[in-house]
Amino acid sequence: MAGRVIVITSGKGGVGKTTTSANIGTALAKLGNKVVLIDTDIGLRNLDLLLGLENRIVYTIVDVVEERCKLKQALVKDKKNPNLALLAAAQTRDKTSVNADQLKKICEELKKKNDFVLVDCPAGIEQGFQNAVAGATEAIVVTTPEMSAVRDADRIIGLLESKEEIESYKLLLNRVRPKLIEQNDMMSVDDVKDILSTEIIGVIPEDTGIITSTNKGEPIVNDEDAMAGKAYRNVAQRIMGNDVPLLDLDPKVSFIDKIKNFFMKGKV
Ligand code: ADP
Ligand code: MG
Repeated sequence: MAGRVIVITSGKGGVGKTTTSANIGTALAKLGNKVVLIDTDIGLRNLDLLLGLENRIVYTIVDVVEERCKLKQALVKDKKNPNLALLAAAQTRDKTSVNADQLKKICEELKKKNDFVLVDCPAGIEQGFQNAVAGATEAIVVTTPEMSAVRDADRIIGLLESKEEIESYKLLLNRVRPKLIEQNDMMSVDDVKDILSTEIIGVIPEDTGIITSTNKGEPIVNDEDAMAGKAYRNVAQRIMGNDVPLLDLDPKVSFIDKIKNFFMKGKV
């Protein structure tokens, strides 16, 4: 078995990489895949917190690299889903404690026994990014529909293009607010798609439920009713190659659009 290694990256910080990693990882595991999440970032809201696993960490990725434990020992099993495990980031700010070759080796090892290895990347384009990308052959670029985030995503796409190992990358648009798009106060999905000329793997709405779910240590994909949960479950389906249409985030808007389109077409 050779699993897929996907890096979740962005350029700009705070756009939802860690949220995306936790949710896609959980959703893929719920669909029966064996999944390992690798946290290569140290931030305020680490992957372990989002998964509610912070008290279960004994060894981190640095312990693996420095041979204080075997890779298998450092994998923290998810409480709910035995298919999901986490390789936690070290609680040290020293980014030089792990290098790209070491991360690549860890990914090579993990993909032998897992369907998916998802690497949560730190912000920026420096060492942390280079490390996170090293073992991956696919990437998901997370952005919000703001100019600064889109610009940083564009830079990351340029870097991904220059990496021989990266075979494909797709865009995930996060924190979308249909009402603002309707009022022309936010870039639309098509605007972002056009600027970056990149295929979209998912559109996630702004959802206050994400904040509550983070605090509870339970990814929102476990909430059957939440719109963002559904959007993330759809992303997991698309990663697996299933053709699921993008969510109609605001049925009211699109219904009016449909009527408009109907009349427009009638005129030509
Ligand atoms: P990153 O890993 O890119 O730095 P995070 O995943 O930590 O970003 O998200 C940054 C903040 O934004 C967090 O507080 C998170 O709860 C919030 N957030 C992310 N996505 C959404 C969303 N779709 N709706 C509402 N809040 C979100
Ligand atoms: Mg993060």
